[in-house]
Parts: sequence; structure tokens; C-alpha cells
Amino acid sequence: MKFLSEPIITEATVLLTDSRFVSQPAQSIFFAIKGEHHDGHQFIDDLYQKGVREFVVEKKAATNDFQNHLSKLVGAKFWLVENAIRALQNLSAEHRQKFDIPVIGVTGSNGKTIVKEWLGALLKDDSVVKSPRSYNSQLGVPLSVWEMNENHTLGIFEAGISKSGEMEYLEPIIRPSIGIFTNIGSAHDEGFRSRKQKATEKLRLFQRSKTLIYCKDYEDIDDEIRILLKAVNPSIELIGWSRKAGAKIYVNATKLNSYSTLQILWNSKIYDFKIPFVDDASIENATHCIFLMLHQTINVNVIQNRLDALKPIAMRLELKQGINDCYLIDDTYNNDYAGLSVALNFMSQQHTKRSKVLIISDLLQSGLEETELYESIGDLIKGKEIDQIIGIGEVISRNQKYFKNGVFYHSTEEFLEKYPINQLQSSLILVKGARKFEFEKIINRLIHKVHGTVFEVNLDALTNNLNFYRNKVGSGTKIMVMVKAFAYGSGSAEVASLLEYHRVDYLGVAYTDEGVVLRQNGIKLPIMVLNPQPESFSKLVEYKLEPEIYSFKLLNQYLDFISSTETTFKIHLKLDTGMHRLGFEEQDIEALIGLLKENPQIEIASIFSHLVGADESEHNAFSKTQIEKFDRMSKQIITSLNSQKTLRHICNSAGIIRFPDAKFDMVRLGIGLYGVEVTGSEQKSLQTVGTLKTVISQIKNLKAGETIGYSRKGILEKDSRIATIAIGYADGFDRGFSKGVGKVLVNGVACPVVGNVCMDMTMIDITDAICEEGDEVIIFGKDLSIRDLADSIGTITYEILTGVSERVKRVFYKE
Ligand SMILES: *Cc1c(COP(=O)(O)O)cnc(C)c1O
Repeated sequence: MKFLSEPIITEATVLLTDSRFVSQPAQSIFFAIKGEHHDGHQFIDDLYQKGVREFVVEKKAATNDFQNHLSKLVGAKFWLVENAIRALQNLSAEHRQKFDIPVIGVTGSNGKTIVKEWLGALLKDDSVVKSPRSYNSQLGVPLSVWEMNENHTLGIFEAGISKSGEMEYLEPIIRPSIGIFTNIGSAHDEGFRSRKQKATEKLRLFQRSKTLIYCKDYEDIDDEIRILLKAVNPSIELIGWSRKAGAKIYVNATKLNSYSTLQILWNSKIYDFKIPFVDDASIENATHCIFLMLHQTINVNVIQNRLDALKPIAMRLELKQGINDCYLIDDTYNNDYAGLSVALNFMSQQHTKRSKVLIISDLLQSGLEETELYESIGDLIKGKEIDQIIGIGEVISRNQKYFKNGVFYHSTEEFLEKYPINQLQSSLILVKGARKFEFEKIINRLIHKVHGTVFEVNLDALTNNLNFYRNKVGSGTKIMVMVKAFAYGSGSAEVASLLEYHRVDYLGVAYTDEGVVLRQNGIKLPIMVLNPQPESFSKLVEYKLEPEIYSFKLLNQYLDFISSTETTFKIHLKLDTGMHRLGFEEQDIEALIGLLKENPQIEIASIFSHLVGADESEHNAFSKTQIEKFDRMSKQIITSLNSQKTLRHICNSAGIIRFPDAKFDMVRLGIGLYGVEVTGSEQKSLQTVGTLKTVISQIKNLKAGETIGYSRKGILEKDSRIATIAIGYADGFDRGFSKGVGKVLVNGVACPVVGNVCMDMTMIDITDAICEEGDEVIIFGKDLSIRDLADSIGTITYEILTGVSERVKRVFYKE
């Protein structure tokens, strides 16, 4: 065991910052980072057991006791540093110095990842190293740049910052020779004094660059470039394009039905291009890419050919429902080493009992020598407990000796022809391939096809919302999360497994069967059942579920049921403090205590009650009497039974916000987790979790006077373009949205419902939208709030969320 100080000199090839993702322990150096919710220092023992020997530890965590403890870890090395993130950044910046190749640095508020990925596709260099996904943070950037090696000929990295001062650390790591500043918007505004200051901060990335491409129409960017960047980097070549007529570098975009044309004036020459997109963001992103290619003097015909092949990018890893009870992780856009590692980590985060299958193509653009590359991929995969590997491609096939449990095919066609796809049952399948292997064909075969409506669940937003409430209640209060009603429509097993990973204390469901499903999916957290029917008692016990007991009748039935056994049984006592739904009342308490005293085999895990009006301030006084009553009644039970371990809880999501003094031992979080802050005062701290979307099935151009749908309720007042979309009231699109009450979003444009909502379909007026058949339609999501939907038909957000029917496919993703 050795304690060392900086600089870090290491032979390690893997920089490890998340203890869960260790796969090559002997080659890894672990940086113990203290975050808001996890402290890396707690995982050192665990990693040591797994074989990691090099650790970077923060001085402030290294108390004498801790150092004593570490000194028992034989053969380990510890670097004691002020700040582990800075140490990681320094190591990576040093690594960057070894290479003298062109490096493109991309920053801006939006579009960084798309521009980076598109450039990776458009520049067709053999050995491009680029940030995986959106690895653009204080940690993501050093980890990305660390992947650079001698064989690379081009680097493309993105940098994102959320507060002032951060770019200073990222610039020396990326040190871009060419820069792209995509745009500036409102993201992370709170971390900066002003929009201008944010632009200034971001521009620091280019203080040593030779060229910078940006859109001059963002005045904050343009001003700061002229005033500040020019002062520190006077020789920088600026390519500032503008959409304004008369500009020196001028871009004129024309949107047509399924593509746009761009006319570009640059260096007194006119260029014409066509791109397969019509939305503003894609046009802007593509324009940046075109300027970069023109600047690299790539032939215009070549540029056009490559633009033709450009595809929208799935910005995130998605979990999709597959055939035969499988789940798919669809990552078919590219396949490089860093991206593979990220995707494998995503896979290992899905705490599932399903067997794990990896379908993988040849890797491209790695820069490594073939055998070396496949050997290290083999190593990477070995640590991930993959049950079966399906390799597709000539190169991976001839390197199959590096993979255990593998079958190999020379091409995607051969796989589709020969592999018995129906043998894939109840598996989690990662499909990871470079574009030219066209793995979308594989996804197409594996995906569970239902009609085009999906409910997308953003797992990162869920985590954000959980953390928000966690901070609100503080570490001394436990959290029970209500996952009843299919986790408010979001999919109970998947949500529960994320919650288990984030170590919430309890889950709550409405019925025994809901709890059974969770257990069958491997969930181990304690689970309370709100409505335990006597018929289900045997299942309750078999699956270790804890019933809410709300009446003497139910208590006696349960006592009868368990009388034959010796073990203790946990129950949760429900007190009625004003809801008058279920629960013991104040006059029952004496008798209840008597009964419980006679039955010591019953353990009272918790006592709780429910607030009737925590979401509305007009009921504050009543809520307070409920809280007082609950305090009094529950205290009486606990004192009489001397059951100090019993938890007390009364607050739901709204209660947490409105009555911070009534947290007791635990809170019951429900709708807030799913992104709706019902009191309204903290809505901006929550993120949207669920997006319900569908597709356009057919478009018709109809004349004024025609009628649409059943009962001829939608009468056209003018000539209109009408689309039929694949969602109806049987999916949870309420019939109350008929006749213009409901609006949906088509490519950003709000389109009203025409006529009556049908069972499986709805007609909308798309006269003002640019769209075609097959385009996506948003029913609710970030830009169309559930609250507005609920208000428009006089219901509550709970009903909108839980109304999304189970036939609608759920898709889970992380940003
Ligand atoms: C559903 C439920 C909650 C959660 O309520 P929200 O308003 O969604 O936070 C809490 N407690 C009980 C008893 C519930 O039934």
C-alpha cells in the first residue's frame, strides 16, 4: 500500500469514475468523486475486492481513520489529491498534449451531439475519435479525450457547461483546432449572470483555435466574438454565417415537403445543397456541418452525396419492448469502442433477471490494430455478464476467439436468414452496430409491433425528480414511492428497478397483484399494499408484501390467516383523519391497541394517514388538523405498544412541499416523481417524465363544407389538410378532446382535433403544419403539459397519466 501525491503517473488504460462499471479492474484507475448523492470513497473496498489497485482519493475525505483503513489494502496505490475531478482532468489534458491531429470542438446550447455525430458520419475519416453520446461534461470530456491514440487522424469532441468558470477546465483537454459554436439558448441560464456572459464562457473553448464556425444571427455570440475572442485570439479565422439578406456569408434555406434546400454564399461563390430535413434545428445543425466540409475543401458533389445519407440521430439509448417478452436497447447508429462501453453500462444498469444478449457488428474508426481492438472488446464484454454474443461482420468473425458464448455471421442478411430469432425469449438484447450494417433491419424483426402509439418514459427526468424531493425532505426522512396504477402509467417494473437502484426505502402499490409483478421482476424493496383483499393473503405472504390494515374486520381476517405460523408479520396501520375512505378512527384506538397487544406476532412497520387537500391552500387549516390528529393518534399507539421502530407518515407529494414540518419518519411520493408538482409552486424544478406520442396514418386534402368522422361533427369551414392519427379513446385519448377541445403537436405546430375522437383513431387539422404521413404527433410531453390537457377537459393530471392504456407500448430511455 502506498500513498502518493500528484502528478498521477499511471499505466492504467481505463479511467473509472463509476464503481458500477468496472470491467477491467487490473487496467483501471478509480477516481473517488464525491457527488450530491453518491460518494465514490464508499466504493473503494468493493473495487479493491474486484481487483482495482489504483485509486485517486480526495484529501478532505482521507481522515486518519480512513487512511488507516486504506493502509490495510495490500498492494494498492492511493493518490491523495485536493479534487478528484481536477486530477482526472489534468491527466486527460496531459494525454491530449501527445497528439498533433486536427481536433474539432463543438459547444453551444443545443445541437452539440447531433453536429458531432453528423460530422463523424460526414467526414468519413478512417480513424475518428469522438465523444460517446453526449459525454460533454466536466467528467465526460476528460473521459472522451482519454480515448485518443496514435492511430487517430481526427478528433471530434463536444463540451457543455452549466455554470460559469467550467470551460476553463475543458479547453486544455480538448484544445480544438477548429471550433463550432452551434447556438445559444436558455439552457442553464441560471448558472450565468447573463446570456452574454454565457456566450463569453463558452467561447473560452476557442481561445487557441485556428477557425471558428458559428451563426452570426445569435447576437450575443457575435458580439462576444468581436469584443473578447478577437482580443485573446486575434488570428482566428471566423466563419460567421447569417440568414439575413445582404450578409457576407449568407445562407438561404427553403423548406419543402420532405427536404430543404440551402443556398450558400461564401467567398463570393454560390453553393446549392439539399438536406433531408425540414425542421429549423436540423437545418441549422446541417449548415454548420456544411461549412466545416467546405472549409476542408471537400468536393461539393461529395458533400451532397454524404448529406443525402444523413439520418436523424437517436439522441439517447432506449429500452424498447421486443417480441417474446424481450427488451431491446437500440443503438444502431454507430459502433465505436467508447460508445460500446457506454451502451454496455446502460445495459448493466437495467437490473433485470433477463438473460443478456449482445448483437454487435464490426467496430469502425477505432484507430487500433485489429487483434488488439478485438482483444480489448473481448475483455470489456467479459466483465459484463453477457449470456450470448452474436457477432456480425467479416472482421469480428475472424476475431471470434476473443469472445466466449459467441455465434458469428458474415453479414446482417446471413444472420437474419440463419439465426433462429424465436429462440430469443425474455432477454435483454443490446443491438449495437455501425450504420453500414443496417441493424435497423434486425431491430425491425425483434421489435414488438403494435400500432404507432408509444408512451416514452425519461428515466433521467425521473431521477431528477426523485432527487428534488430527496433534497426537500432531507436525509433523515425515508421515502416511499407510490408505484400503483402501473406507476401512474409509467410502467411499474422498470420504474421500480430504477428506484431500487436509487435506494428509496419503500414502494407502495394498490393491489397485491401489482406487488407480485414487482417481485417477479426481481424487486427486493419492502412493498406496502394499500388494498389487500383477504383472497390474496397467501400471495401477500408468499411474496413478502406488507398489507395496509384499515379496519378491525381486515385485521381479524389477517390474524386468522397467519395464526398457524410463528414468524412475525409486518403490517401498516391506516388511520382516518378526515378523508373518510379507509382507516381506523379516533374512537377505535383503545380497542386497536388492546387487540395488537394480544398479538405480538404482528409487527407494526408503520402508521399512516392521508391528506385530503394538500394540493390546495384553501384546505391548509383542515390539513393542519389532520396532521395534529394523526400525530396524537399514532403517538398513542406507539407509546402503548412501546414500538419505537414504527415509522409514521402522512405527506403525499403535495404535502412534502406544503407541510415541511409534517414529514414525520417517511413521506409517500407519488405524482411528483412523474413530473407534476400539484401545488404548482415548484413545477419548474421538476422535469417531464412521460411523453405520449403517435403517428400520422393518412393525410387528406378536403374542401370547405366536408365533414369529418362519426356523426358528421367536424364541419370544415375552409379547405383544409386533415390527418388521421393512430390514437383514440381506447388508448387513453379522452373523448372530451373532440371538436377542437384537444390540440396535439405536429412538428412543433399545435393542431386541433376535428370532429369526434374515435376508439383507435382521431382526425386533426394540419393545415398550418409541415408534415407528411408517418410523422410523429405529440399528445403530451415537455411542450404540451399534462396539466393543460387535464384543465381543458375538466379533470386532473392523475387521470390523464393513469388513463394511458396498457396496450400503449412503453419505451424507457436515458438522455
Ligand atoms: C397515491 C397515494 C399517495 C401519493 O399521492 P400523490 O398525490 O400522487 O403524491 C400517497 N398516499 C396514498 C395513501 C396514496 O394512495
